[in-house]
Amino acid sequence: MKLRESASIVKFNWRNFLWISAVHAIALTLCWFFFTWPAFIAFVIMHYLCGMVGITFGFHRLLSHKGFKAVKPLEYFVAFCGTLACQGGPISWIGQHRVHHAYSDKPEDPHDMNKGFWHSHIGFIFNRRADLNSVEEVSHYCPDIARNKYYLFLENNMILIQIVVGLLILTLGGFLGNTPGFDWYSAISFTVWAVFVRLVSGYHVTWFVNSATHKWGTRPNNTNDDSRNNWWVGLIAFGEGWHNNHHAQPRAAKHGWEWWQFDQTWIMIKVLKSFKLIYDIKLPNRDDKPITKISKKMESEKSLLTTSEITHKKAV
Ligand SMILES: [Zn+2]
Ligand SMILES: [Zn+2]
Repeated sequence: MKLRESASIVKFNWRNFLWISAVHAIALTLCWFFFTWPAFIAFVIMHYLCGMVGITFGFHRLLSHKGFKAVKPLEYFVAFCGTLACQGGPISWIGQHRVHHAYSDKPEDPHDMNKGFWHSHIGFIFNRRADLNSVEEVSHYCPDIARNKYYLFLENNMILIQIVVGLLILTLGGFLGNTPGFDWYSAISFTVWAVFVRLVSGYHVTWFVNSATHKWGTRPNNTNDDSRNNWWVGLIAFGEGWHNNHHAQPRAAKHGWEWWQFDQTWIMIKVLKSFKLIYDIKLPNRDDKPITKISKKMESEKSLLTTSEITHKKAV
């Protein structure tokens, strides 16, 4: 079956729907009653650890696009943080993201903006495509990740990892409370903020990159999709909002090309480079201007998928 045909076969995923609904309900109701400043600080730390270290630095720029190389302990640590964001394990996340780049804003795109803002922001989580709904299926789009046993472990144990780290946060919160011994109010406060509110904030930050940056913003590069540079997504999504730049040159580790395009993930890359923890960094090719040439370059490095992987056929 061709990818375009299999992309149209969707099934409502009740498990995802109930999970996302429950996380939002717990976070948005309990956060008002269990606010403490230490819990809020734990939320900020976890938000950065999962959202920037794990997703934008790890899953996206390092593993999906190979924009740079990292020493193995760092690579494996950031992949763990990405898994903790609970947006799918590394194989699911990276496989789907590469399909997004190969078919941006086309029917094969997992979060095709042409199907509406709701679909590209959150609906695609509920209406799961049959061809991207299993590890075995999605592995065809990221064989380099899928063959690694550690990444397979993270993929298969995403929920367990979430529970173990959640219990650690609950325990830590309990011992950091004001009352002697174990403080249950502080324990719940830490869990609500550093687990549930952090999950909600991480989800929407990532989802806005799929939705808003394919709908609102400027298009300085003539890419053959609808990607946009969007300043407010750039701010909340650690630099990922300069999405038209990213679609123009997906392998470039730096997304904010102008001095005013604030790119927090790029700052992290530069800091880690100074410690010699990362190397072989791919920079945007600005000499190629005018933009038509950038567009041509994008064609040549549209994603890391090979033709055979893109045209992967499977009876679903
Ligand atoms: Zn995109
Ligand atoms: Zn990308």
